[in-house]
Amino acid sequence: MAKTIIITGSTSGIGLAMARAFAKEGYNIAFNGLEPNGAEIAQQVADEFKIDHLFVPANMMVPQQIRDFAAQVITKWGSVDVLINNAGIQFVSPLENFPEDKWDAIIAINLTAAFHLTKAVWPTMKEKKFGRVINISSAHGLVASEFKSAYVAAKHGIIGFTKTIALEGATFGITANSICPGYVHTPIIDMQIGDQMKAHNMTKEEVVNTVMLAKQAIKQFIPVEAIAQMALYLASDAAAQMTGIAIPIDGGWTAE
Ligand code: NAD
Repeated sequence: MAKTIIITGSTSGIGLAMARAFAKEGYNIAFNGLEPNGAEIAQQVADEFKIDHLFVPANMMVPQQIRDFAAQVITKWGSVDVLINNAGIQFVSPLENFPEDKWDAIIAINLTAAFHLTKAVWPTMKEKKFGRVINISSAHGLVASEFKSAYVAAKHGIIGFTKTIALEGATFGITANSICPGYVHTPIIDMQIGDQMKAHNMTKEEVVNTVMLAKQAIKQFIPVEAIAQMALYLASDAAAQMTGIAIPIDGGWTAE
C-alpha cells in the first residue's frame, strides 16, 4: 500500500520539488500552499506520476486550519507516514524597523505551524510505530545574518523543536530531522535577484556572487532537487537510525 506524505508549501519551490520526488516513489501526497493555481499544480503532479492526492490550501498561520488539514488527510488515508514542514516566508529589515506583524507571521508560519501539524499527526505515527518528520530549517537555523531576526529565530527554533520530538518519538519508530539549505534557486529568489539588480545597479552575476552567494564557498545556488533527494533519504528505511540532527546543504556556508 502506498505511503502517505504531507508537505506544506508544496505548490512552489523546494516543496514542489519534494512533492515531485515523493510522487515518483508512488506516495499519496497531501499538497498545501497559497499559490492561486495550487490546485492545478497539485493535479499536474498527480497526473504525471499517477498518484492519489489531496490539495488543501490551509493557512499555516491559522491553527484550526492546520488541524482541519491533518484531519482531512487522516480521514482520507488513515494515517500519515511522512510529514514535511516546509512552508515559510521571509522578511528582511533592521531590528528597530522590523514590523511586529512580520515577526508574528514568520514565527507562526516558519515555526509554530510545525508544532500544530506535527502534534495533529503524532498519534497516528505513534500508533503505527512509524513516522518521519522532516523540517525545512535553513543555514539560518545554524548561523545568523543581519536584518533577519525573525527568520533566524524561527529557523533556530525549529531545530530545537526537531531535537525534542526526535527524543519523544525514538521508541515509537518515529524520526525527526531538519534540513538546512543555503540559497536555493526558487521563484522567490528570482524575484529578489531582479530587485537587487535595480537596488544595487548591478548585473545579475554581481548580485548572485557578491550579495547572495557571498557566504557560500561553492558559489552556486543549491538545486531544489538536492533538498528533495535528502528528504527522500531521510524518509527511507536506510535513515532509520538518523534522528534529531540538522543537516546543512549549504555549499560550505556553515563550514566557516
Ligand atoms: P517558496 O516561496 O517558493 O515556497 C514557499 C511555500 O510556502 C509556497 O508554496 C507558499 O504558498 C507557502 N506558504 C507561505 N505562507 C504560507 C501560509 N501562511 N500557509 C500555507 N502555505 C504558505 O519558497 P522556498 O524557497 O521553496 O521555501 C521553502 C522553505 O525552504 C521555506 O521554509 C524556506 O524558509 C526554506 N528555505 C529556503 C531557502 C531558499 O534559498 N530558497 C533557503 C533555506 C531555507
